[in-house]
Amino acid sequence: MDDNAFFRRTVLIVDDEPINREILGTMIGGDYEILYAGDGAEAMRMIGDYGMTLSLILLDLLMPVMDGYQVLQKLGEDETLKHIPVIVLTSEKSAEVRSLAMGAVDFIPKPYDMPEIIMARVRRIIQLAENAAIIKSMENDELTGLYSGKFFFEYANRIEQYDAGRAMDAIAINISNFHLINDLYGRATGDEVLRSLADNLMTEFGSGIGVVCRETADHFFLYVGHRDDHAQVLERIITRMRRTEGIKNLHIRMGVYPNVDHDVPMEARFVRARHACNAICGNLVQNMAVYDEEMHRKEIFSQRLIEDFEDALSQGQFVVHYQPKYSILGEKPELVGAEALVRWQHPEFGLLAPGAFVPLLETYSLISKLDRYVWNKAAGHMREWKDRWGSCLPISVNVSRIDMHDADFKDSLLAIVRDNGITPQDCVLEITESAYAGYAAHLVEIVTELRQQGFRVEMDDFGSGYSSLNMLAELPLDGIKMDMRLISSITTSDKARQVVKLVIGMAKLLELPIIAEGVEDKAQYDLLKHLDCDVIQGFYFAKPMPPEELVKLLHKGE
Ligand code: C2E
Ligand code: MG
Ligand code: MG
Repeated sequence: MDDNAFFRRTVLIVDDEPINREILGTMIGGDYEILYAGDGAEAMRMIGDYGMTLSLILLDLLMPVMDGYQVLQKLGEDETLKHIPVIVLTSEKSAEVRSLAMGAVDFIPKPYDMPEIIMARVRRIIQLAENAAIIKSMENDELTGLYSGKFFFEYANRIEQYDAGRAMDAIAINISNFHLINDLYGRATGDEVLRSLADNLMTEFGSGIGVVCRETADHFFLYVGHRDDHAQVLERIITRMRRTEGIKNLHIRMGVYPNVDHDVPMEARFVRARHACNAICGNLVQNMAVYDEEMHRKEIFSQRLIEDFEDALSQGQFVVHYQPKYSILGEKPELVGAEALVRWQHPEFGLLAPGAFVPLLETYSLISKLDRYVWNKAAGHMREWKDRWGSCLPISVNVSRIDMHDADFKDSLLAIVRDNGITPQDCVLEITESAYAGYAAHLVEIVTELRQQGFRVEMDDFGSGYSSLNMLAELPLDGIKMDMRLISSITTSDKARQVVKLVIGMAKLLELPIIAEGVEDKAQYDLLKHLDCDVIQGFYFAKPMPPEELVKLLHKGE
C-alpha cells in the first residue's frame, strides 16, 4: 500500500445479495473501512455523500432498482467521481468487456473462491489510482519519497471529509541549522539526513491515521491522529538519527498544534504548528513546543499590527528616539553620537518597543518602508540641528538585513541625505551581524559602495552568534558594536569577560573602534574602560529619549 498516506482507505461494496456482500467484506475488511449498498440507487446516494474519500467501488452488475451499468454510466458523466476506480463483480465473461468499456478498471469473477487474488487486485487498483493522482499533481518529493505540500493538503482534507470530528494534530518539524549540516558535512550528507528523517517519521507515525510530507527544504508537515507522546517520539527520532547519521549535535524542532479546531482551515492549522516550531528557533535545549493560548494571542496581536501598519505610517504614529553614545577614552566620558531607535505610538496599545514589531515587519517584508521613514525622520532632525548650531552629532540608524535585498537601498539612502541637505559623513549605518551571515559577497559589495559615498558602517550585535572573529578582517567596516548579551554578563562570567577581551583585542588589531551597548552599571563601565573599549551606549549613561531631550542634553554639554 502507498507509504505516505497511512489512513485506512474506504471501499464501497455494492451487491444485492447480502451473502455476497458479507463474503467480500470479510475478505478485505481487515485492511479497509467497508461501506455497503444493496442496489445502484443506494450506491449513488452513498457515493454522493462520501465522494472522493472512497478509494474503490466493488460493483455488482445485475441488481434491482438501478443496475451496475447505470451506476457506471452515472459515474462516467461526473467529472470528479469518474476518478474513483470501480471493479465489477461478475460471473459472465461477456459483461466484462462492456463494463471495461464503460470505465470499470478491472473485474473479479464470481464466485469468490480466491481471497488472495481478490485482495491483491483491490490493493493494486487502489495504488494505481492513487499513483495516477500523484503523477497528475507532479508534486511528490523525489529525495524522500514523501508527498510534497500540495498533495499533502489534498490528503489531509480527505481525512477531514471522511472523519470530520476526529481528534487530529497538526505538526511542523524542522532541522535546526540545517544549512550548517550541508556546509560542514556536504550536500550528500544533508540529503541523507533528510531521507533518514522522512524514514523515521514513517516508522513512528506510519501505523496510525495520518499523512506526512516534506513541505520545503528541511521543513516537514504531519497531520496525524491526536496523541500525547510527541515529545517522546521526537526524542527517540533524534537519538536514533544522531547515532545512524553520526552527527552528535543534530537538533530537530517540533511544533505541535494539538487537537486541531476543525473550524480553522487546514492551511491555517499548519501556520499555527509552524508558529510553535519557530517559537523555539535558536533554543537548543527545548525540542518541542505546543501551540497554546499565549501563541494564539500573539498571532492575533501580530495580525493586528500588520493590518495597522500602513495607516500608522501615513498618520505619523512612528516616532524616533535617540540614545547617546559616549567615548570613554579620555578622562571624562564625551558625547560622540546617538543612535536613532524607532517606537510605535499605537493609538490602542500605547508606546511599542521595536522588539514588538521590527521582526514582524521583517517577516512581512515591510521593514524597508519603515526604515526609510525612520532615516528620513532622523535626517530631518539632523537638518534642524545643523540649522541651529551649524553642525550636528553623528547619528546612527539601523539597517535591517532585509534592506540589503532591496535594489533601491543605496539610492534611497542617498536621496534622503540629499533631500534633507545633510551629508553621508553625518551618518552611521548599523548593519546587524546576522545580515553578514548568508549574503556575504553581495553585502560586502554594497557596504563598500556606501563607504565610498562617505557613510560610516558599523556591525551591530556582534557576538550574537552568526559571525566569527576571523571574518572581521575581511569586511569593510568602520566600527564594531558588541552585542548586549556579551556585555550583560561580563562582571559575573569569566568566560564572557574573556570573549569581550578577545573581541576588543581583535578590534584594536584591525584598528577599528569598538562600541559596547547595553552597559547598565558602573561595574560594567569600569571593566570596559579597563579593557580599553572606545565607546559606550547604555542605560548607565542614558536611555533612548525623544529628540527634544537629546537637544537639552547637547545644550548642557555646551
Ligand atoms: P539595537 O540596534 O542593538 O539597539 C539597541 C537596543 O538596546 C535598543 O533597544 C536600546 O534601547 C537597548 N538598550 C540600550 N542600552 C541598554 C541597556 O543598558 N540595557 C538594556 N536592557 N537595553 C539597552 P530597542 O530600542 O528596543 O531596539 C531593539 C532593536 O530593534 C534594535 O537593537 C534594533 O535592532 C531594532 N531597531 C530599532 N529601531 C530600528 C529601526 O529604525 N530599524 C530597524 N530595522 N531596526 C530597528
Ligand atoms: Mg543598532
Ligand atoms: Mg545592537
